[in-house]
Order: sequence, then C-alpha cells, then structure tokens
Amino acid sequence: MSDEVKEEATEAQAAGAKPARKRCPKCGSNLKLRHGEFGSYYGCSRFPVCNYTEKVGE
Ligand SMILES: [Zn+2]
Repeated sequence: MSDEVKEEATEAQAAGAKPARKRCPKCGSNLKLRHGEFGSYYGCSRFPVCNYTEKVGE
C-alpha cells in the first residue's frame, strides 16, 4: 500500500521539476512568455480578459 503512495509522490516530483508550463493563479489558464519594453515577463494567455502578469525568474 505504502509503495503505491511513494510511487505517486515520485511521479509528482518529476512533473514539478519541469518548469515548462506555468499557470495563472487567477484564472488557471496558461501563462505565456512575453517580451515588453521593460523586459520579459509571463502574461496570462487570456489577456486582456485576465491581466495577470508575473516576473520571469532567473
Ligand atoms: Zn489569468
């Protein structure tokens, strides 16, 4: 039983290690990498319906 749980946790960890897809915390849509005059940032793919933006980390 505990083996199954451990396996699931490992799988989730592997998925979390991939920073490929970012999600908008406001609406749950994907964030897109955008390039503005002040540099790169993530913007919600539902813009302008949702105007969430996030700074790009190093
Ligand atoms: Zn959004």
